[in-house]
Amino acid sequence: MGEGVGQVALTAKSPFELRVNLGEGVPESDVRTALATGDMGFLHSFTTGAAVDGPGIRVVAWTAGCMWRCLYCHNPDTWNMRNGLPVTIAQATDVLRKYSHGLKIMAGGLTLSGGEPLMQYRFAVKLLGAARSLGIHTALDTNGYYGERLTDAEIEGIDLVLLDLKGWDPERHRRLTGMDNGPTLAFARRLAALKRPVWVRFVLAPGLSDDTDTVTGVARFAASLGNVQRVDVLPLHQMGRFKWAQLGLNYELDDVQPPSPEAVEKVCAVFRAEGLTAY
Ligand code: SF4
Repeated sequence: MGEGVGQVALTAKSPFELRVNLGEGVPESDVRTALATGDMGFLHSFTTGAAVDGPGIRVVAWTAGCMWRCLYCHNPDTWNMRNGLPVTIAQATDVLRKYSHGLKIMAGGLTLSGGEPLMQYRFAVKLLGAARSLGIHTALDTNGYYGERLTDAEIEGIDLVLLDLKGWDPERHRRLTGMDNGPTLAFARRLAALKRPVWVRFVLAPGLSDDTDTVTGVARFAASLGNVQRVDVLPLHQMGRFKWAQLGLNYELDDVQPPSPEAVEKVCAVFRAEGLTAY
């Protein structure tokens, strides 16, 4: 793809491309201004063609920066915001403009993922707004932890929220992600109160999130909200393992096998038993 910033292409073949230190040279004051205004953000990349990150065919903007440390994270190079490429809203909008016609034809849209997009929430709001003004459907894939940063009006400007519910018991959640799940659950309730469409994403990781308490807890909670249109049960995979090694990080899940299709189906059945649509 031609467009880029400096020597680095803004579009990547996949989010599994390891990208580090792309924003290293940006002065701290510029980072602060970027965060305060949202006029510039840090992106790992754009990828195209995804059909699993929202309805239709999607362009996905992968933001850099995440406050969680999930044991199964497949994009640990997105934890550090400075690993991302500094991109202005105008540059990002140019990329979207290029795809807008095709996305409309394919009933797709833009999904903002990461990392955690709400680490750069002003940039996230501006980029989603730019997409909307081009007539592109927008989805925000978030762990919800910083959902309180968004105003009601900003939430209402997003067509769909893909909300990652990673666990139920607070202690187990903390062990898996390093953080409390209270703010995520509060954001889920707020989205429900605002009647915003939500797709729940649940990563099924043997030994971490496949116990009955976790699956039933998440399923009952999701069903109680009344605005969850579907649940995607995402089997743990090991495609990001090489990034942990290359970043010198200790990956604890080397011996964990991805769940079998039968195990995934069993968990989907728990969600369906609560009245939800699950895949
Ligand atoms: S919330 Fe997502 S990006 Fe952040 S550590 Fe977890 S899996 Fe990785």
